[in-house]
Amino acid sequence: MNILILGSGGREHTFAWKIAQSDLCDKLYVGPGNAGTAAIAENLDINPIDFAQVGKVALEKNIDMIVVGPEDPLVKGIVDFFKNDDQLKHIQMIGPSQRGALLEGSKERAKEFMALYNIPTAAYESFSFESLQAGKRFLETLKPPYVLKADGLAAGKGVLIIEDLDEAKKELENMLSGKFGAASDKVVIEEFLDGIELSVFVLTDGENYKILPTAKDYKRIGEGDTGLNTGGMGAISPVPFADETLMKKIEDRIVKPTVNGLKAEDIDYKGFVFIGLIKVGDEPYVIEYNVRMGDPETEVVLPRIKSDLVALLESTWKGELNTASLEIDERSATTVMLVSGGYPESYEKGKPITGLEKVTESFVFHAGTCRTAEGVVTSGGRVIAVSSFGDDYKQALKKSYQSAALLQFDKMYFRKDLGFDLS
Ligand code: ATP
Repeated sequence: MNILILGSGGREHTFAWKIAQSDLCDKLYVGPGNAGTAAIAENLDINPIDFAQVGKVALEKNIDMIVVGPEDPLVKGIVDFFKNDDQLKHIQMIGPSQRGALLEGSKERAKEFMALYNIPTAAYESFSFESLQAGKRFLETLKPPYVLKADGLAAGKGVLIIEDLDEAKKELENMLSGKFGAASDKVVIEEFLDGIELSVFVLTDGENYKILPTAKDYKRIGEGDTGLNTGGMGAISPVPFADETLMKKIEDRIVKPTVNGLKAEDIDYKGFVFIGLIKVGDEPYVIEYNVRMGDPETEVVLPRIKSDLVALLESTWKGELNTASLEIDERSATTVMLVSGGYPESYEKGKPITGLEKVTESFVFHAGTCRTAEGVVTSGGRVIAVSSFGDDYKQALKKSYQSAALLQFDKMYFRKDLGFDLS
């Protein structure tokens, strides 16, 4: 079958790498892709949120399946667009419908969903500009730090955690006055949960589900989890503290009610659910839902899936995930993200990347790269994810760091302390 992956990051290169290994895949396209995907698939110059353009290309290239990498096209309704078009509805879309994608597109909706299905999460209330005074009074009832979340998508920047009550009140007013544009027309204020974070990934056809490997990512730019938030500086899978007892609680209290909730609401959801969790004491709570895989978590989760991913995705589309087999590699996987100096603030692009051919012990997944006449150059903040296997995460990390040392570009930076909070 002909498969199109939408997106251009390390996540999409990893999907392309895994899908290219399947006998079920004839021709593989990535749109728009990067220098890494160009080496194993055909890149298409398309914009994933231009649905008409994606549809036209899908027909031209006889595409049978589309894997939607990022959240934006999902939240904007790409799956519904295909489903409602007679010429496109046969294409196997991997991703939720717009109603399903609202679990990521609206934090208020996600909280309401969790409340309705008794899924453990932080206590919350939601406010609009009209209820600003009530929001300030609600803040007075909470203990610091105060957690303020823009309701809509804000490129990972819409969550503020503030120590001081007066500052929290001021920020609430700023957010409701348009600090994040329409994304903060509503603000969710929630109780702060003190614990350690992990992510659980689920593939569902809306009725059945498979739990994929767990992962832990490192979001801050600086060592010891300091400095600004980034798209993710690295990840480890499995999460060492996600033992059987914790996973059972997560499955019973969170995964099952989530899938049952989707089903109860008759939501068309054939895709990935990425559940951001926090373990407080021994209990798991949901921090957020994402309706697609994470980046860089994909770079450690997919390598650990031994089964044919295309077969799994096809079963998902057909609603037969219960009959699919999922075999997981017992080894640990880690990824280290190499980023442009200055990221996540301003940085330069177009820096030649050297050493790519020297890496033999790890997988090099391209994120912000492109190919020019001079070779592969940087084209984004996060440039390359270096993924490795090991008997445990420490061994895998050692390999990722050894491989990272072989790669070079001007002002390259990466965190050297991944896993610091695990031992
Ligand atoms: P992402 O960039 O992962 O998409 P987001 O902007 O969608 O994030 P959340 O994941 O809801 O927002 O929150 C971002 C981060 O803020 C979390 O990863 C967590 O570290 C912290 N956080 C969010 N909610 C809470 C909470 N209730 N208690 C403690 N920390 C929290």
